[in-house]
Amino acid sequence: MREPVGITECDNYEEQTVHAALADVLDKIHGLDFVKPGMKIAVKANLVSMLSPDKAATTHPALLKELCRMLIERGAEVIVGDSPGGIYTAAYVKAVYKGAGVECITETGARLNDDFTVREADYPEAVSIKKFTYTAWLDQADAIIDFCKVKTHGMMSMTCSVKNLFGTIPGATKPEYHMRFPNIKAFANIMVDLNEYFRPVLSIADAVDAMEGNGPTAGKPRHVGVLLASRCSYDLDMACAHLIGLTRQDVQTIEEAYERGLGPESISEVQLIGNLEKYRVDDFDLVAEHGSVTFTDEPGVFGKLKGALIRSAFATRPQVKKAECIGCRKCEQICPAHAITMVKQKPEIDRDRCIHCFCCQEFCPKGAMKVQHTFLGRMLKLLKK
Ligand code: SF4
Ligand code: SF4
Repeated sequence: MREPVGITECDNYEEQTVHAALADVLDKIHGLDFVKPGMKIAVKANLVSMLSPDKAATTHPALLKELCRMLIERGAEVIVGDSPGGIYTAAYVKAVYKGAGVECITETGARLNDDFTVREADYPEAVSIKKFTYTAWLDQADAIIDFCKVKTHGMMSMTCSVKNLFGTIPGATKPEYHMRFPNIKAFANIMVDLNEYFRPVLSIADAVDAMEGNGPTAGKPRHVGVLLASRCSYDLDMACAHLIGLTRQDVQTIEEAYERGLGPESISEVQLIGNLEKYRVDDFDLVAEHGSVTFTDEPGVFGKLKGALIRSAFATRPQVKKAECIGCRKCEQICPAHAITMVKQKPEIDRDRCIHCFCCQEFCPKGAMKVQHTFLGRMLKLLKK
């Protein structure tokens, strides 16, 4: 059964605006009806790195603070957290809290997560990850709220509520999963598995200032001016994809959810409460078109060969802009495939080793690593336009 998606204008992050808009969008879907006094609620934000809120890479602190206030008013105990890329330690994650400006949530009585232990999960029903390591702070909660940011994403086309749950995996373990599941279909199924395992009771998307271009960390803020919320992360992601001009086939997580009978087939199946078309951005600068090219191999030797040829001809790839690179070696250190070596203090990518995970692009502190289309990929993009 599909869940409705609430849509409410939110033109800025000022306290009054956020207060009215968040209350309205949650009222539309009865989003906080589940909250009971004494309940422990974990708010899984997107705190991908220590970028300030004006960069539009992280869930805005004004929204997180308002949500915490609303939950505490209903008698809940609230913990906000995430596992950013990088080492999952108190020192690093607390630096991210500070950089992302989320320390303000403690003014409401909510806490920032300070439990950095990890646990192993057995999940035999999973499609991709039947055993995995996750951040143990989530076990403290009776319910999880997924509060994401709408952004372009080098590997997945879009990151929204479903992809946000990859932050339940400890930072240093994420590259290992990229390496174990280099195929985009298998990787997208990890996100769906995590959504099914953790089952957030509510998902909210911050699309007040979304991120376009070289996302999810080095793109440009794009003012969209809207909040969306749903009790179903798949319906929410379908609505957010439509908002920025993507379809189910463009976003592999939505595609996999649909194929598993969990998500909607198209935007027309989503029950929208509010005017989504009013906020739709026709010229959103999308990072990649590879969702529609397909990374999925067909069975057999010829299927694999065909997949490899399509990938080399059309797939987007990381490319360093040497003038913007400061030679910090972060990309070399994070690359799960060990495809990067530094030559004269600039990264060189071994294309045969590269698994197109875009970790190097996501964690480059200068945005020097870009998502680049091949010549044929650019032609395809032009034709599609
Ligand atoms: S992470 Fe970015 S700035 Fe650092 S070496 Fe790699 S490309 Fe250059
Ligand atoms: S070079 Fe970049 S995209 Fe390729 S495997 Fe390494 S981190 Fe991933």
